[in-house]
Amino acid sequence: MSRPPLMPVQKALEISQRDIQLVATERVDLASAAGRVLAEDVTAKLTQPPFSASAMDGYALRSADLNGRGAELAIVGESAAGHGYSQPLDPGTCVRIFTGAPLPPNADTIAIQENVERLADTARISKAEAPGRYIRPSGGDFQIGQMIVAGGTKLNAQQMSLLASAGHNTIDVRRKPRVAVISTGDELVPVGTLPGPDQIISSNATGVITRIEAAGAEALDLGIALDRSQALQRAFQRAIDAQSDVVLTLGGASAGDHDLVKPVFTAMGGVLDLYRIAMRPGKPFMVGRLFGAHGETRLLGLPGNPVSSLVCTKLFVEPLIHAFLGLPNTQERMWGRLTKALGPNDEREDYSRCHVTMNDQQGWDVTPFEKQDSSLLHVAAAANALLCRPAHQDALPVGSPVQFIWW
Ligand code: AMP
Ligand code: MG
Repeated sequence: MSRPPLMPVQKALEISQRDIQLVATERVDLASAAGRVLAEDVTAKLTQPPFSASAMDGYALRSADLNGRGAELAIVGESAAGHGYSQPLDPGTCVRIFTGAPLPPNADTIAIQENVERLADTARISKAEAPGRYIRPSGGDFQIGQMIVAGGTKLNAQQMSLLASAGHNTIDVRRKPRVAVISTGDELVPVGTLPGPDQIISSNATGVITRIEAAGAEALDLGIALDRSQALQRAFQRAIDAQSDVVLTLGGASAGDHDLVKPVFTAMGGVLDLYRIAMRPGKPFMVGRLFGAHGETRLLGLPGNPVSSLVCTKLFVEPLIHAFLGLPNTQERMWGRLTKALGPNDEREDYSRCHVTMNDQQGWDVTPFEKQDSSLLHVAAAANALLCRPAHQDALPVGSPVQFIWW
């Protein structure tokens, strides 16, 4: 029986993201907004700093009193952080001041304490500073109304602090795409269970969910569906009822007697958009759409071999989640040099587990692992990158330029 040619990875990526709609927005507490994607540009509700403040511990004074040299000034008070000194300074006077404390109204410079000899009631200042020195002017960070974080940004720690300091306590973000995960197989027992005869622990969902949550999705773990049509159909129905944007199946994607994903999915009215791709690992990958009362749930059927599941999650599921969130695909391909000779590649694009380190020439050395079987989790876990080889690539001697993606 002749099969259709395998689909190239890039084409499969396009099909898997076809007609994706941005998810809706929701308002969340700032405290839980880290890693979420801003719905719109955000402007500052406050000016920061709200008052001109000292950047150092020292003495606040009027630069005119120093006559360009130095002076001995009477200390008339103190301005500490949270407790300012609000009187204007008379000529010949100064105020003890600390970092973050408001500047007295007419002070325009700070003498840092390293340049001051403190006497009983006076400060002997040995060095004249230019006006404005060691002062953080009001609004020097940002002004009220200024745009501070652009819509579409995935919020990092720095932006979280910036939003907090600008007076935001709640924030509009994209809702997390909901991704249901179905593990399939009669041999599987849940994590935390001792496998009986012929059984193994269902480990795929653990790593896959780790990746999809980090990409910004909410995972719905639907557990293990046994290799029976009814069990798988029930699991698909749960994914639809939960209004999942995506349903992932792990395993059951090949063409064996017990591989039920494709037949059950199509029997439920699902439309299959692609099946089998020119990729190693990951050949039995499939994409389709299921329809429920709320609309469409996209199916990504991943192969069950543990490394295949994870590589397909990296290459297809993460970019899909990003598409739902309006984020660019960030899987940048890097160039490095091969430290080991490799034979010619066949008709499938290859994503080998490899270890990448920086060499003395500030380039990357790429070392593929000897064992590449897609069942080997210990190799996948030791790898920090995937070496990407095009289909039909010639044999590569040591030193060949190669592409990789961090993983
Ligand atoms: P399948 O794609 O269902 O034929 O599975 C391929 C291989 O992956 C088989 O050796 C399965 O036992 C294994 N496998 C499938 N699903 C899982 C899972 N959730 N956790 C660990 N191994 C799995
Ligand atoms: Mg199976």
